[in-house]
Amino acid sequence: MATSIQSVTQNIAREMFDLYDSFKAAEITSCRITHANMLKWFRSFKEQDLFTKLPLGTSGEGRTISLYTIGNGSTKVVLWSQMHGDEPTATMALVDIFNFLTKHPEHTVTKTIKEKLTLLVIPMLNPDGAERFTRRTAQLIDLNRDALALETPEARILKETCSKYQPEYGFNLHDQDARLTVGTTKEITAIALLAPSIDESRTDNPIRVKAKKVASTFAQILNLFIPGHLAKWDDTFEPRAFGDNIQKWGTSTVLVESGGWKGDPNKFFIRKLNCVALLTTLYVIATGESAQADIEVYEQIPFNMKLGCDHIIRNAVLRTNNQVAPIRVDVGINFEIRRNDSTDSLEQIATIVEIGDLTTFTALEEDVDAKRAELDANRIKLDHSFSADELPLLFKQV
Ligand SMILES: [Zn+2]
Repeated sequence: MATSIQSVTQNIAREMFDLYDSFKAAEITSCRITHANMLKWFRSFKEQDLFTKLPLGTSGEGRTISLYTIGNGSTKVVLWSQMHGDEPTATMALVDIFNFLTKHPEHTVTKTIKEKLTLLVIPMLNPDGAERFTRRTAQLIDLNRDALALETPEARILKETCSKYQPEYGFNLHDQDARLTVGTTKEITAIALLAPSIDESRTDNPIRVKAKKVASTFAQILNLFIPGHLAKWDDTFEPRAFGDNIQKWGTSTVLVESGGWKGDPNKFFIRKLNCVALLTTLYVIATGESAQADIEVYEQIPFNMKLGCDHIIRNAVLRTNNQVAPIRVDVGINFEIRRNDSTDSLEQIATIVEIGDLTTFTALEEDVDAKRAELDANRIKLDHSFSADELPLLFKQV
C-alpha cells in the first residue's frame, strides 16, 4: 500500500535539518568552488577512512575525476554532481554529507547507509567547467547532451561507471535557473525534481516507477521544510541526456535541480536542503521504506514556470513619445556576472528582460514600487544590458 513517509523518517529529516550547522563544511564560504578546493576537502575525509577513492580518468584539461565509494551494502546508488561547471550546489552538499558520515559514525543514518548501500559518488564531473564557472566542458560540449555520442572523456567516465557497477539507483545533481517558479504560484522554485522519461511517450516501466517513488520520498522530506517551493522539471524525453539514458539503461534515476531562495545568492540554504533530503532519502532507500512511497505526491508537483526575475520595478510611468499618453508599466530585470577581459575583473550586468504587466511575476531579489515615477524612455529597451550600478539611471533624472 502506498503511504506517506513514516513519522520516524520525518523525525530523522528534522534532526538532520537541526544538526546541519554542527556538521556542515564550514570551510565552504562561497559557491565559486574549484577542483583544487574539492580535492582538499575530500582529502580530509580520507584520513578517517570514510571511503575508497578510485581515479576514473581525466577531464579534457587533465584534471582527475574520481569515484568515492562509501559502504558495502548490496544496493548500489550512484550520485554525480556538477556535470555543468556552473552548477556547484550539490557538490557542496556532498561535502556536507561526507562530513556528516565522518562526524557521526554511530548515528543510525550513517550505520544504515553504510550497511545496506554502496554509495558511488562522482563529485564535480566537469572540473574544467567548474574552473571557468561555465556550463560546458573545456571542449565546449554540454556534457548532458553527450550521453550517446560519448565524444568527451567526462561522458565516457560516467557511462563506464554506470555500465561497470549497474547501480540500482541514481541521483543526477544539477542547478537550475534560480528565477524559475512553482507553476503560477509566484513562489520561486527552491528545488525541482524529475524521474526522467525513457521515451517520447513518457512510458512508466518498473525502473521509472521506482525512480518516481524515490522522487516522491524526496519531495515529502522537502515539504517538511519548504512547502510550496518544490517543482517538477520538464519531463520531455531528451535522447542525448544522461538522466534519461541512465534510467533507460536500468538505474532508477532522479534529477535534482537546485533552484533559488530569496536573499541567498550563494545558495547555501538550497545546499542545506540538498544535504538533508539526500541523506534522509538514502536512509529511506536503505531501510526499504521508499518502495512504499505514494507516487501521486510526485505526480502532483507543479511544473517549473518562467515567472521570476531578479529585480522588478512596478508601477512606473513610461512616455515613449508625445503622440500618446504615458502608460503604467512594470520592468523585469535580470542580473548576470560577466568577466570583463580588459580589466580582468567580474562585473554585474543588468538586462531588461520584460516590460509591461508583471503582476503574474515574482522577484528573486528586489521588488520595488516605483510609485508612478517616470522612466527614462531612452534607457528602457528590451534586452538592453548595462552595468548593474546604473540601475537608478533607468528613471528620468529631475
Ligand atoms: Zn545542469
